[in-house]
Amino acid sequence: MSLDMFRLDGKIALVTGGNRGIGLAIATLFGEAGAQVMLTGRTETDAVRSLVEGQPDRFAWVAGDVTDPATPAALVAATLERFGRLDVLVNNAGVADGGNFHEFDDARLARIMETNFTAPFRIARAAIPPMLAQGKGSIVNIGSISGFVANKPQLQVAYNSSKAAIHQMTTVMAFEYASRGIRVNALAPGYVVSDMTANGIANAEMNRVWTENTPMGRFGKPEEMATCALFLASDAASYVTGATLVADGGYITH
Ligand code: NDP
Repeated sequence: MSLDMFRLDGKIALVTGGNRGIGLAIATLFGEAGAQVMLTGRTETDAVRSLVEGQPDRFAWVAGDVTDPATPAALVAATLERFGRLDVLVNNAGVADGGNFHEFDDARLARIMETNFTAPFRIARAAIPPMLAQGKGSIVNIGSISGFVANKPQLQVAYNSSKAAIHQMTTVMAFEYASRGIRVNALAPGYVVSDMTANGIANAEMNRVWTENTPMGRFGKPEEMATCALFLASDAASYVTGATLVADGGYITH
């Protein structure tokens, strides 16, 4: 055994939503841990440009809207073309939206489910064949505490349902591929500082409720999600599959 098991040397990773927030932190840490990383999202941010220009052999970028049915296979194909294999998939891209259940219309429901569930399903589906051919692979799906509980105070049935679906997809995929070298796990963050939570954190009342409901009394940092994702992705988690690792400052303990 060695601490090197926590590293990703020689491994190729694809991180969706790698251009900002939690995904950017994951992609950056994976690079530091030795992986070569394909980042993707709709917007090529300054952070992406800086990573790719600074370390062109380590980081690459491909643009894509994951709700376009053609994008999932294209992302995997671009990764294989650029780096030759795919060892780790992080299904991180996601969107949040909320409001009264009985007023949540079809267009908003479709956007949530297509981004947060259908797209990760399709991307994982495209990633499995090269992983099977290699005899090894690791998939990390970014779920949420919202997949376990109702959030306070905001109402968001569609979002929470999409994240519960991701947790269950993780469980059942893990069962299906466990004997063929592919591990599938999920990470369920609590409230993390990012664009997704920026409005809530800036709102004094939401901020108070979110903080009071988090036993640690603070929000998580994207980097604190990245370390969890690294563990799940790496050989350090070689006997871990079908797990949903909760990283929430204690939010769902009560
Ligand atoms: P951000 O809003 O900061 O980032 C969302 C990411 O998803 C961006 O990279 C965005 O890129 C990408 N994305 C969204 N829609 C699409 C699309 N249609 N096609 C391609 N990429 C898309 O959020 P976070 O970093 O906070 O969230 C990352 C993940 O973590 C999400 O799955 C979220 O649900 C989950 N999560 C976040 C929590 C938090 O408190 N922040 C808590 C629990 C879970 P672009 O817009 O350029 O396409």
